[in-house]
Amino acid sequence: MMNVDDLAATADAVAATRSKLAKVELLAAFLRSLPTADVELGARYFAGGVFPAGDARTLNVGGAAFRTALLELGGIDDDALRRSWRRHADLGDVVREVLETAEHQGGVALTLHELDAEFATLAATSGSRAKAIAMRDLLGRSSPAAARYIGKLVSGEMRIGLREGLVEEAIARAFDATTADVSRAMMLVGDAGAVAALAAQHRLGDAAPVWFVPLRFMLATPVADADEAVARMGDDVWVEDKYDGIRCQLHRRGDRVELYSRDLRTVTGQFPEVVTDATDLGADVVLDGEILAFGDGRVLPFQVLQTRLGRVAPSTEVQRTAPVIYVAWDLLMQGEEVLLDAPLRERRRRLEGLALPSRIALAHLESVRGAAEVDRRFDDARARLNEGLMLKRPDSPYTPGRRGLSWLKLKRPLDTLDVVVIGAEWGHGKRRGVLSDVTFAVRVDGSDELVPIGKAYSGLTDEEIATMTRILLDTTVSEHGPYRAVRPEIVLEVAFDLVQESTRHRSGYALRFPRIARWRHDKTIGDIDTLNRVRELSRARSHDRVQLIDSAPRS
Ligand code: AMP
Repeated sequence: MMNVDDLAATADAVAATRSKLAKVELLAAFLRSLPTADVELGARYFAGGVFPAGDARTLNVGGAAFRTALLELGGIDDDALRRSWRRHADLGDVVREVLETAEHQGGVALTLHELDAEFATLAATSGSRAKAIAMRDLLGRSSPAAARYIGKLVSGEMRIGLREGLVEEAIARAFDATTADVSRAMMLVGDAGAVAALAAQHRLGDAAPVWFVPLRFMLATPVADADEAVARMGDDVWVEDKYDGIRCQLHRRGDRVELYSRDLRTVTGQFPEVVTDATDLGADVVLDGEILAFGDGRVLPFQVLQTRLGRVAPSTEVQRTAPVIYVAWDLLMQGEEVLLDAPLRERRRRLEGLALPSRIALAHLESVRGAAEVDRRFDDARARLNEGLMLKRPDSPYTPGRRGLSWLKLKRPLDTLDVVVIGAEWGHGKRRGVLSDVTFAVRVDGSDELVPIGKAYSGLTDEEIATMTRILLDTTVSEHGPYRAVRPEIVLEVAFDLVQESTRHRSGYALRFPRIARWRHDKTIGDIDTLNRVRELSRARSHDRVQLIDSAPRS
């Protein structure tokens, strides 16, 4: 019987080689060695998952519960734990270090099914204290090597250099299937465990979407401008407004409706008015679209939608002050028909054929020719105060979970600001060991005072980040938990999509999607932008919002 120690040994071997082929071979051999009943769990764990796709359970072990569990396992105090975390920035690595320091042996290794039962118990346990005890006991029963991977699974990432594509290859190799068949099954059921179980029984052809199990979302590739878009897609393209809300998949069958967010979690309870309207749809459907704050015929700022996020069963007052609608752009299932392989043209035609209730609208769509027209539509979309444009190939299928060239997204940054770095934190994952997360500020007009306006993580090269880390360490003036305040010396140009009023930062503003455009070695703190300029940018965006949704199907 394969157990969690065997899983850990395979995972260690996978992590230790850089060869993709060797990784695939190792995992394939492991999967092959499992009894059929264990294949599902084995593959799911290597893909970093704990529960099946569409399963509403979550482990939900917070940082505090984890800390308590580790401290109670002994061998380490709070300070050492913090240092360990800073060194590794990976829960699994911290767990192993703690257990090794405590010279912990662990008991008899859990089988995969026992681990599955432990995870089920953990998910059903509520309250931070109870979670901490359950977590402590689970880790306590395991060897340091196994506990390391349990920690990684609980935190949601294996980090052993196994991208999903490699897991698919390993499943194919283990059970004599083609990677294409595995990958197609993966698109349909979105769960490496379920796919591996089908492959082991030579039943990949049976893979099919299931009602109330969310399909993964089709993703778009960014393009810089209309010329690039047309070069990639050809002259005749469909353009839709790119709405600034939250992605949402809507399943409606009979009188049951569920809404799923981009990370495939159930968000049904947050938007009861959409659920009510969807129940009125005359057909069983799976829709792809976006939840948008929308009232009096206008799109409302994203901040309005933000007040709804994470809030289950909102009061009628909340529903009134932050009204939402569902904007649909795709139809993935209708009745018992799966439409993923039908061309977008056909899916849209059927979508327009549905009788839509008032809180479900169609995305604004136009068919255009050439870059100049794309540019014009982009400006129109911006005038409607949407984020930009999506360009779609009318003849393309819907490919769940894939970022392909059939959907392109075009958003030009609104503007850039020159800012100065005033604080930094250690990065995570690939960026552990470097101060990659920076907090930056603008200057108050007519004074030397700096006010924070945002944080950014991405945009610099690894080399620049290494240099920046050295400077930030040298210029640290104080440390507050993970945050270190630094002397303001590094000037960055940051690009962003929107400036919004916000209480999050002392400046009274926040940037939406900030990223570092360039390190401005040529500028000093005297050259950075001021609060007045931020105010101007914010005002430029707050003119009246206009109608943007097609209220009736296009002719
Ligand atoms: P991004 O989040 O910048 O990667 O852009 C992709 C996101 O744009 C999707 O996940 C959707 O949430 C959003 N989006 C807005 N409008 C559309 C549209 N018409 N078609 C597809 N995605 C859209």
